[in-house]
Amino acid sequence: MSGAPILIAGGGLGGLSAALGLGRAGIPVRVLEGAPEFGAIGYGIQLGPNVFPMFARIGVTEAVLEKSIFPDACVWLDAFTGEEVTRVPTLHSLRARFGNPYIVIHRIDLHNALLDACRRVPAIELVPDAQVTGFDDDGEHVHVRTADRRSFSGPLLIGADGLRSVVRAQLFGDTPPKPLGYVAHRTIVPMSDVPRGVNTGIVALWGGPGFHIVHYPLRNHTLFNIVAVFETATYDRKGDLASYRAEIDRTYADAHPAMKALLDIMDLERRWIIADRDPIRHWNSGRVTLLGDAAHPALQTFAQGACMAIEDGVTLAAMLAGSGSKIAATLAAFSRVRHLRTARLQLESRRVWEDYHARDIARDVTMQIYRERSEKDMFDCLAWLYDGFEIPAGADRSAPQKWFASR
Ligand SMILES: Cc1cc2nc3c(=O)[nH]c(=O)nc-3n(C[C@H](O)[C@H](O)[C@H](O)COP(=O)(O)OP(=O)(O)OC[C@H]3O[C@@H](n4cnc5c(N)ncnc54)[C@H](O)[C@@H]3O)c2cc1C
Repeated sequence: MSGAPILIAGGGLGGLSAALGLGRAGIPVRVLEGAPEFGAIGYGIQLGPNVFPMFARIGVTEAVLEKSIFPDACVWLDAFTGEEVTRVPTLHSLRARFGNPYIVIHRIDLHNALLDACRRVPAIELVPDAQVTGFDDDGEHVHVRTADRRSFSGPLLIGADGLRSVVRAQLFGDTPPKPLGYVAHRTIVPMSDVPRGVNTGIVALWGGPGFHIVHYPLRNHTLFNIVAVFETATYDRKGDLASYRAEIDRTYADAHPAMKALLDIMDLERRWIIADRDPIRHWNSGRVTLLGDAAHPALQTFAQGACMAIEDGVTLAAMLAGSGSKIAATLAAFSRVRHLRTARLQLESRRVWEDYHARDIARDVTMQIYRERSEKDMFDCLAWLYDGFEIPAGADRSAPQKWFASR
């Protein structure tokens, strides 16, 4: 038995969660990150109560909560009238129902909480500037190649390399993600720049036909995160600032004045194409598996993609640490226990995306349906997500010797 570390391609939220789960169990792990430095693109992120049992297992709860804001509610607002369509309260009643909080946090702070925890675990090696380009699985080891012609070997490879995963392309073919025809612009501004009249204490979703804006506070209410998303025929074309601004002015021409005021303070420099993939049943082959967006990218309708990546990472680590069986069997069991939950997120995200962006009479009907929903109705709808994921019996994070002995 060699003590070669498990290899993880990608040091995003999923990859680092898996690394922490494995490293804390004493299993050596090496994270290969393609970017020159480990870190996140600096915008906000929402995290549901289901992610907290995972944070507890990898010991980052306090570090995350220290940097979090607890919004009052997630509120859907009519993009024309500003009227409230429906709300999910996210304070006391949500905690009472689901046992954990709903938070918003700066992605950099969340990433740093995971990175700091990784750096304290001797079994974890973080390798920046290691762009994975391919791998060979010889049945005993996986040999990974990087763009700068280095090679790393380990007993298994976890592809946590996101939406455009190289590991996935080699495992299952190089098909691109499915664009939806929507794009996103993201901005963080000082709270003092936020136009008066905007409710800054909530997660707001202003929904209109073919467009929306989401906003919420960050960093002790000193910053404000704004995301504008809309359908456009130019979704796959790079434009300049003037063309983006003109397109937004057209798209949001009839939107509520508060939305227009928010768009005025947005930095439109960067644009993201909104895309997902169809669910797949199996994420593994031999000694290689996928997790997170590499396996099951979803539209951001439920703000749960990162939560799923973290659930994946912690679950896989626990299953590997507790498994007395062969690696390939554990990897197969991993996607077997996870794929229904993540596929449901992918499919329901598409369905509810249609709700938020419905047009004409379909919009009126949809909003009426949501208006009639009580707090209990909303919690019941979200229970499959927010009740969390139970790591399977037999998985164990405290048995590294058993795991190594059985390989
Ligand atoms: C606009 C928007 C808003 C969102 N809001 C939320 C939200 O509020 N809540 C939520 O839970 N989710 C949200 N999501 C989804 C969430 O961002 C993703 O689901 C999540 O980041 C997936 O994590 P991951 O670790 O699987 O992949 P990623 O975060 O994409 O990380 C992949 C990592 O792999 C690295 N990498 C890529 N290729 C290679 C390679 N070849 N070799 C080595 N390294 C590589 C990348 O540099 C990166 O560090 C949102 C998504 C979008 C687009």
